[in-house]
Amino acid sequence: MKTMTLQLLSFIFALFFTGTGATHAQEIQKDSFETSIGTLTIHHVGHASLYFEIDGKVIHVDPFSQMGDYASMPKADLILVTHEHGDHLDSGAIELISKENTQIIINQTGYDSLKKGIVVKNGEQKQALGFPINIVPAYNIIHKRGDGTAYHPKGRGNGYVIEFGDTKVYVAGDTEDIPEMKNLSEVDIAFLPMNLPYTMSPEMCKEAALMVKPKVLFPYHYKMGETNTEKFAQLMEEVSGIEIRFR
Ligand code: ZN
Ligand code: ZN
Repeated sequence: MKTMTLQLLSFIFALFFTGTGATHAQEIQKDSFETSIGTLTIHHVGHASLYFEIDGKVIHVDPFSQMGDYASMPKADLILVTHEHGDHLDSGAIELISKENTQIIINQTGYDSLKKGIVVKNGEQKQALGFPINIVPAYNIIHKRGDGTAYHPKGRGNGYVIEFGDTKVYVAGDTEDIPEMKNLSEVDIAFLPMNLPYTMSPEMCKEAALMVKPKVLFPYHYKMGETNTEKFAQLMEEVSGIEIRFR
């Protein structure tokens, strides 16, 4: 009788855990790209959260627990945090994907609250796991709070351009279409934020796309039903050479 109950319990347990595991695996969309150092797989966790897998390494960007089950995701060799806002810096999610030797690259205000990681500033260059990383500006010019301060003041948050062999990936962070985007050269894959009032309108996102000129553009940091993604798709119809992928 006792054995029966145990067997039944473990069966229910297995059913439950296999069930949830499978659901999460299906929820995260991914894209793969061939690079000079092997296949780069991008996992779109949601909002501003994503992670890269390449050459046996895992690089998480802005992990945020509300976007996915970080306990079931692969542990990070490197975590990139763009800035201190709650949807980008989540100590709980960081804890869940951290292992011994996990490196964290973060902006100063993020570090002030997390108390961990290597602080990097706009304009700096770093190597992490052997990948060159350019730290670029991310800020608002137009969109401001009621008191006149930008949601993202210039110089505070970071965007990251990571070189995976011959493939350059730009994760813009929370920014508008800032003039510094013109200085980015040969970006292959870009993540550009699109939501109001914190980041870009569809029109601004188009201007940003024209400056960055990525081969593949993933608009991100947007909400279905709130952000006018159709408007953006429509605006980009007249632009050639940039493939837009909504995920
Ligand atoms: Zn922000
Ligand atoms: Zn944000």
